[in-house]
Amino acid sequence: MKSRKDASLTLPNIPSPDKPSSPTSPVDIQCKEWKEAIALMRRPAWPVIRLLTIIVISTGHKDIGFKDIKRLISEFPDPLEIDGMEYRYPQRIIEPYCSILINNINKLNIDANAEDADSLLEMSVRVTDGNGEFMPYYEAVMAIMQQEILLRELERINSLLCSPCGCDICCKGPFKEDEHQFFEIPLRQEELSLFDLPVIENNHSIKMSPYDMAPFLIKGVPFYKYPDSPMIVRWEKGYSLMLLKNDRCPHLDTNSRCAIYDTRPDTCKRPQIFPYVIEETGDLELVHKAKLLAITDCPYVKALKPYIHRYASLNGLDLMLRNNKF
Ligand code: SF4
Ligand code: SF4
Repeated sequence: MKSRKDASLTLPNIPSPDKPSSPTSPVDIQCKEWKEAIALMRRPAWPVIRLLTIIVISTGHKDIGFKDIKRLISEFPDPLEIDGMEYRYPQRIIEPYCSILINNINKLNIDANAEDADSLLEMSVRVTDGNGEFMPYYEAVMAIMQQEILLRELERINSLLCSPCGCDICCKGPFKEDEHQFFEIPLRQEELSLFDLPVIENNHSIKMSPYDMAPFLIKGVPFYKYPDSPMIVRWEKGYSLMLLKNDRCPHLDTNSRCAIYDTRPDTCKRPQIFPYVIEETGDLELVHKAKLLAITDCPYVKALKPYIHRYASLNGLDLMLRNNKF
């Protein structure tokens, strides 16, 4: 997947989610996967988790564990009303995120101890706002927690939406006639062993980005024209599977299914709606963005824009829509 860093279009209006924008959805909107995904988008977990966090912090609970969370949720009314939205079974909504919640709530509790807070700030909780200023500790932890919650929630939503589409755009390089020369799927180092492909890294590649104006050269040829593809390249920001024109991922089978679906790389689990509450920059800095990115090449993004707008709004995020490939 191409880097999403340069997304640019912000759409502030929120159309009604009752009417999908495209009458030509590739999938029956009533199919069970889409119905489940739409239900998740209409009742995102973050507002409930934020409320629970505020309650825990304001009541001074320390060293919160699973039992405490369970007990606190059981005291919630059912349905729970937040900002005019009714949440049925709030405990079921929170359960998949308990470990993220506990980890971050306990960071917030440590804030009461100035010494520990300082060391945490040094370690991991430095987030800058758009002006380069450090955010207050509480807001920074909340932003990191929201990013982690949305990553997990959108992994589920994207998988539900993608599976009935019968589409494999994400697993192929650009078509011959496309303007783009390559398509990039960032990989973690532990994921390299999933691919039996050459890994190209040298003193030049590790100081470059695939989007540099002067391209990285392999044997004197721009990497996107090199015949031995697909390949993995180590860039400044890390490893990426590079799918060049007409390439397909080696794990895409003849039925357009991923042959390693259960162990596929993280990036493949997160198309094509992606949280940018926090962005990690190339310098490993965390920047608060408060955005949600959706890639409009994707058939389910095209068909479900109003629901995605609404989901962004319920999470307090601006929606960016971007065309990646065409
Ligand atoms: S690993 Fe699977 S999901 Fe990821 S690009 Fe390859 S075929 Fe597609
Ligand atoms: S473009 Fe959308 S539907 Fe197609 S493979 Fe990617 S995520 Fe799935």
